Amino acid sequence: MTGPYLAGLDLTGRRVVVVGGGALAQRRVPLLLHAGADVVLVAPEVTPTLDGLVADGMLTWWARPYRPGDLSGAWYALALTDDPRVNATVAAEAADQRTFCVRGDDGSAGTAVTPATGEAGEVRVAVLGGGDPGRAVAVRDGIVEQLRAGRWSVAARRVGQGLPGVAIVGGGPGDPELITVRGRRLLAAADVVVADRLAPQRLLAELGPSVEVIDAAKLPRGRAMAQDTINDVMVQRAREGAFVVRLKGGDPFVFGRGCEEVEACLRAGLPVTVVPGVTSALAVPALAGIPLTHRGLAHEAVIVSGHLAPDDPGSLVDWSALARLTGTLVILMGVDRLPQLADHLIAHGRDRLTPAAVVQDGSLPGQRTVRAPLTEIAAHATRSGVRAPAVIVIGAVAALGAQQEPTVDRA
Ligand code: SAH
Repeated sequence: MTGPYLAGLDLTGRRVVVVGGGALAQRRVPLLLHAGADVVLVAPEVTPTLDGLVADGMLTWWARPYRPGDLSGAWYALALTDDPRVNATVAAEAADQRTFCVRGDDGSAGTAVTPATGEAGEVRVAVLGGGDPGRAVAVRDGIVEQLRAGRWSVAARRVGQGLPGVAIVGGGPGDPELITVRGRRLLAAADVVVADRLAPQRLLAELGPSVEVIDAAKLPRGRAMAQDTINDVMVQRAREGAFVVRLKGGDPFVFGRGCEEVEACLRAGLPVTVVPGVTSALAVPALAGIPLTHRGLAHEAVIVSGHLAPDDPGSLVDWSALARLTGTLVILMGVDRLPQLADHLIAHGRDRLTPAAVVQDGSLPGQRTVRAPLTEIAAHATRSGVRAPAVIVIGAVAALGAQQEPTVDRA
């Protein structure tokens, strides 16, 4: 049985003509552009998304029906109109000039077929489903999922020269599904994982038995020295040739000391990469149904650390200025100081009835929210036994979402 011969086309700077400007073209064009092709779109009308790409100068649009000769100079062609006769004409012209051509209406009638494609890091995957596009997509999804979970990534990673270095990875607020795709892939490739207490613990359970997991919360030495100890252990393991992933809660650069760790790696001459994460400051309110901004209600949101009392000489926060804020105040690490913080805000001008909410264990099985006006929120949180980690939201938006608090999908 014969079937298509699979090849990877280098389309960089090469003319590709797409005939038709509908939904199918909209699906194909971004990948052609991603491959660096010089895309010419021939269609009297195009979708708004394609129009946007034209406006951005990403491709050339000939705003008219297809004419013979349009394929001149093309390395590759796609006949994607909804008129089979037009597609047949395009395919015939392509065949005459020996240009491979895909037919959107009838795959078998063209000289090329579009595989279901995906990528994970440097690896590209293309699947043909033997004429069944649904099967191709399902198989592609399965392979990409495995790749992104790091199943076959180890050998690929070793191809690089020099030390593999350190990746500072934001793990998101706690639910293992809220890490980024890149974060999960690098985590799966790690030899050593240095994990924070607030890093998604269930992700650690997925790691292979040969991976060394270092619990940063349990490293010896006093509190002040803890960061130096973490830096030392990352640098030391990476110098030994291990690929080290520093897995942190939320985003590494939001109250996460990620920058200090990057600097420590750079000082040690190690390659270091940062993978942003979904910060709890944004995600935890969202999971409780609370938007940080809302049309007509809040045009600003300020993220602030509440680990020091307002009168603490070490505080870098101008709480009196924050009291005059009309928008949303998002406080991290503030559970212990909530009484002083709320009192101070009220004393300096924030309305005592401003809605407030405290969301504990966002995205985790025990997630819960307590809501009260600013003047009562501290007492209410104490009565309810709220503990860290929790995100405090103060502002009109904190009254939203109480009814429709989304259930967290933990399938
Ligand atoms: N880099 C992290 C923040 C570290 S500071 C991030 O971007 O999310 C730690 C604080 O984050 C906690 O005290 C708490 O205020 C907040 N936090 C982190 N994870 C949380 C969670 N799952 N639920 C509620 N608050 C969380």
